[in-house]
Amino acid sequence: MINKVLLLVCDGLGDRPIPQLGNRTPLEAAATPNLDALATQAQCGMMCALGRGVRPGSDVSHLAIMGYDPAKEYPGRGPIEVAGLGIALEEGDIALRGNFGNVDEAGICRDRHCRHISDFRAYAAAVDGLEIDGVKFIVKPGTAHRAGVVLRGPGLSDAITDADPHKENEHLHEVRPTDNSPEARRTADVLRKFFVKAAEILRNHPQNIELQKAGKTPANFVLVRGAGRYRRLQPFQQRWGLSAACVAGGGLYKGIGALLGMKVIDVPGATGKLDTDLDAKVRAALDALASHDFVFLHFKAADTQGEDGKWAEKKAFIERIDRALAPILSLPASTLFIATADHSTPCILKAHSADPVPIIFRGESVRVDGVKSYGERACASGDLGLMTGLDVMAHVMNLMGRSPLVGA
Ligand code: ZN
Repeated sequence: MINKVLLLVCDGLGDRPIPQLGNRTPLEAAATPNLDALATQAQCGMMCALGRGVRPGSDVSHLAIMGYDPAKEYPGRGPIEVAGLGIALEEGDIALRGNFGNVDEAGICRDRHCRHISDFRAYAAAVDGLEIDGVKFIVKPGTAHRAGVVLRGPGLSDAITDADPHKENEHLHEVRPTDNSPEARRTADVLRKFFVKAAEILRNHPQNIELQKAGKTPANFVLVRGAGRYRRLQPFQQRWGLSAACVAGGGLYKGIGALLGMKVIDVPGATGKLDTDLDAKVRAALDALASHDFVFLHFKAADTQGEDGKWAEKKAFIERIDRALAPILSLPASTLFIATADHSTPCILKAHSADPVPIIFRGESVRVDGVKSYGERACASGDLGLMTGLDVMAHVMNLMGRSPLVGA
């Protein structure tokens, strides 16, 4: 009987036919002997995380695949990203993600990333812990210019707009309440006061004074966006009875793991980018299976290549994924292996789409079907048909013999 589960999510893996690839998708055109062998031994199908025609964000798609209904349980992007930075959130916290950037004296955003700065930890430390009108600000650095900002205190709301203009050489947006509640007004007010205070601290920060002496742009502003109110989600183990671990490079995916109470495993070399160490991640996931019932393994870069329209690079990254998956073929049949994606990111669109993605289940006593390769159109003829994200854990429970009986 199946007693362990390894779930691989290749972000943005699905695509559309590309003329230069002979009207095949990057996945169909890629040489993937290992994935094809796994598909041959598996029950196959397609998955559309939120249902046919619905274009999912990565965060909601992952929640659905883990068995959390985004319509009822989505906490917003801010809390997920912030949880991925290792900030322990409390019920009612307002969490935002942000960038350390540069805003000039006229309030124009001149630099959203300050890529010439390699270490932002001192900036985060300088503004972390500020208290304004009974609200505590927690600021933690993320990867590169990224940061997480948490507002902790009574009477707060996430019904506020972004400060980040999302473009350079545009005026900073004023944070405004998006409803008429006193909580939203108070949150917008206190955040504006934080900006003034933080800007003053950052303006005089020794690291910025050094940069200015060298003729470089200082990082003098925290550009925040994506406010969300944290509410505790039922831990994955409680929901499914499976102890769980997460192996991911990107902050958002670590955040999903953290919010669901999974053990988030830091893997050296796991960057969430093209240069990531896929072999190290696969090793870490296999190690984690020794001490956990369920391991979520996430690879990011196929999505990034799709967003950039780089079909050749996407195909090449998929081939790298395939090589890294060689050890999976030796998994015991008692370990259910699932390979899927959270959504398609067609190179032609340079954006997420609602096109279904392949999904395979390989393990003891699954109904192996006739599908012989891992691809969008090959898996469409598989036994499972079209699943939604919420179907995935239900199917896992069934395969493990753990589904509750409905009726008598
Ligand atoms: Zn995604």
